[in-house]
Amino acid sequence: MFRKILIANRGEIACRIIATARKLGVSTVAVHSDVDARALHVTMADEAVAIGGAAPKDSYLKGDAIIAAALQTGAEAIHPGYGFLSENPDFVEAVERAGLNFIGPSAKAIRAMGLKDAAKALMQEAGVPIVPGYHGDNQDAMFLAGEADAIGYPVLIKAVAGGGGKGMRRVDAAADFADALRASKAEGAHAFGNDAVLIEKYVASPRHIEVQVFGDGRDAVHLFERDCSLQRRHQKVIEEAPAPGMTPEMRAAMGSAAVKAAKAIGYSGAGTVEFIVDGSQGLRTDRFWFMEMNTRLQVEHPVTEAVTGLDLVEWQLRVASGEPLPLTQDQIQLSGHAFEARLYAEDVAAGFLPATGRLAHLAFPGDCRADTGVSGGDVISPWYDPMIAKIITHGPTRDIALSRLNRALEETQVAGTVTNLAFLTALSRHRGFVRGEADTGLIERDLALLTAKAQDDPADEAMAAAAVLHAAALPLDVLAGFTLWAPLTRRMTLEVGGDLIEAELTLSGPDHALVRIRDREWQAVRQGGRWHLAGLSRMQIVEDDGIHVFASGLTTSFRRHDPLDRSASAGLGSDMTLAPMPGLVRAVLVSAGQDVEMGQPLCVLEAMKMEHTLKAARAGRVAEIFIQGGLQIAAGDPLVLLEAEEAGHG
Ligand code: ADP
Ligand code: ADP
Ligand code: MG
Repeated sequence: MFRKILIANRGEIACRIIATARKLGVSTVAVHSDVDARALHVTMADEAVAIGGAAPKDSYLKGDAIIAAALQTGAEAIHPGYGFLSENPDFVEAVERAGLNFIGPSAKAIRAMGLKDAAKALMQEAGVPIVPGYHGDNQDAMFLAGEADAIGYPVLIKAVAGGGGKGMRRVDAAADFADALRASKAEGAHAFGNDAVLIEKYVASPRHIEVQVFGDGRDAVHLFERDCSLQRRHQKVIEEAPAPGMTPEMRAAMGSAAVKAAKAIGYSGAGTVEFIVDGSQGLRTDRFWFMEMNTRLQVEHPVTEAVTGLDLVEWQLRVASGEPLPLTQDQIQLSGHAFEARLYAEDVAAGFLPATGRLAHLAFPGDCRADTGVSGGDVISPWYDPMIAKIITHGPTRDIALSRLNRALEETQVAGTVTNLAFLTALSRHRGFVRGEADTGLIERDLALLTAKAQDDPADEAMAAAAVLHAAALPLDVLAGFTLWAPLTRRMTLEVGGDLIEAELTLSGPDHALVRIRDREWQAVRQGGRWHLAGLSRMQIVEDDGIHVFASGLTTSFRRHDPLDRSASAGLGSDMTLAPMPGLVRAVLVSAGQDVEMGQPLCVLEAMKMEHTLKAARAGRVAEIFIQGGLQIAAGDPLVLLEAEEAGHG
C-alpha cells in the first residue's frame, strides 16, 4: 500500500478519498486554489499545497503544478477524483513519466473510451450491444440527416467528446434536424473543443442503468447495477441500487456485458459502463445497449458501497498499489437497497439556476450518510460545481430505504443559499418513483407537480409562527417565574426577505401559548422544555445570524425586527437604556456588576397590555439599575446603565 497520496480534486470527493486513506493509514496531500485555502478538504488532509487561482484552468486543471506538488511532498500516487483531470490521458502519462502512480486506469484505456464514437465501435467489436445509429467519420450535414432518416425519429445527436449531459439534442422530426445538429456541434466545439457528433436512435421509455465494474488489469468483476433514470437535462438527480424490477437474467446479461467491456480494454481500477434500457415492457435482456464508459470513480458510487458493504476507494488504492482484486465475482454480495440524492445550491423556481452564497447553517440527520465538502460558514462560490452534498440511505427493502431518504431530506438543514432540497423531497414522494416506475422523462413531465408547494408543506405563515415562538422563547421562560398566569401578550415583528410580518404571541399558561399572524392562529405547547406548534412537530429551528426554520426540505430565514429592541435600533453603543414608553416594570433580568452580552434581555416592561423585552445595546458590565419589579415608569425614565466603554477600545 502507498504511504502517501495526493488528491487532485476538491469538495466532497476529495474529502471522501481522504477518509478512506486515513482508514488505511495512508497520509494525504490536498491541493487547493486560492479561494479554497480554508476548504474542508484542506483541513482534513495531512498536508496541503496551494496550486493557483480560483478558475479551474489556473489550479485543479494544472497538471504540471499538481505533479510538482506530489514530488515536493513525497506523495507516491495521485488520485484524480471525478471531473477535472480524472479522464485526461495526457495527465496520466505525465504522472507516470514523473515516476508516480495514477490511481485509475491506464491512459490507453481512458483514450479507448474517451470519445463516444470510437468507444461504440470498440464495444461492437467486443460483442457488447450498442444503441443503433451512426458513429462514423462523415460529418456532412446532409449525410447525417440521411442517417437520421434511416434510423427513424426520434433520434439523439451527441457530441462524441460530450460529458455531463452537454452537447446532446433530441430530435423528434426531420424538419428540426438541421438546427439541432448545428446547436449540438456548436456546444461540442465550445465545451470540449471537438464538434464531431454521432446519431443514435432515441430509445423509448428510456431507463439509465449502469454497471459498476472493477479491474486489476488482468481480471474484472462487476458490483451490480445502479439505476440513474431520475434525470434532469440528462443529468442525474437521484440514483439507486439495485434497479427496480431487475431480474437475475437481466443482471447476469448486463453484468457480463459490462465485464466484457472492461476486459476488452484491459481495465484497471473503478469504472462504470452506462447502458440505456428500453423499459416499455419491463427489463428484457434484448433491450439494453451500451452508451458510454466512465473511466473513473462515479459521483453515485456510494449507493454501490451501501448495497455491497465495500469501500470502492479502498479497492482503488489496493488495485493501484499492485494488489489483485480483493474479491472474486461470487464473493461479492448484494444486500438491501440504497438511494443517493444530490443536494445542490440551485434556484429551482428560476429553472434550476446554479446559486451561490455563504452557508449560514448546514446540518444532516444522523441516520444517513452525507458526503459533503463544505460545512456551516463555507461559501458556495461561482467557480465550481454547486453540489453541497450527497445524501445516501440504505435499508433492507426499497420501501424502507426510500422512506429513510424522504426522512433524511426532510431533516436536512441548509440556510444561506437556495437549494433543491424541497424538490428532492417532493421527488422522493413522487408516486411513480415510489412505485419504481421512473424513466428519464419523469422529472420533465411532472416538473410542475414536483416544484409546486406540497399540500402538507407548512405555509409561510406557519414557518413565521414557529420563528416567533422561537424568538420569544427566552423571555417567556423567564416570565414563567414572575407571572400569575394572567394572559400576557407580546407583539413582535419579523423580517423575511425584506417583508415584515407582524405577530402577536399570547402566553396562556406555563405550557400553552397562542401565535397570531394576520387572521390566523396557531396553538403552541411546551414539551420537554421546548415550544412546538401543535400539528407541526416536524419543524426544526436554528438561530445563528437569523432564525432559520426548516420543514420538509423548505427553509425560511427570519430576522428579528423589533423597534423596541435597543440593540437593533438607535442608541447602539449608548450606555443608558431608557424607557421607550410609559408602563409597568414586570421583571428585571440582570443585576449590578453583572457582565452582559449585546442583545441580552435586561428587563421586561408591560405597556398597553403588551410585554416588551429591552435588550442590552452592547456588551458590557451593568453599572447601575434604576428600577425594580412592580415600579410604574414614564417614557424616557432611566432603566439600566452600563459602565462606560474603556477608552481606546476600537
Ligand atoms: P456522473 O455520472 O459521475 O455524475 P457526470 O458526467 O455527471 O458523471 O460528471 C461527474 C462530474 O464530472 C461532475 O462534477 C461534472 O461536473 C464533471 N464533468 C463531467 N464531464 C465533464 C467535462 N467534460 N468537463 C468538466 N467536468 C466534467
Ligand atoms: P454523458 O457523457 O453526457 O453522460 P451519455 O451518453 O451518458 O452522455 O447520455 C446522458 C443521458 O442521456 C443518459 O443518461 C440518458 O438519460 C440519455 N440518453 C443517452 N443516450 C440515449 C438514447 N439513445 N436514448 C434515450 N436516452 C438517451
Ligand atoms: Mg453518461
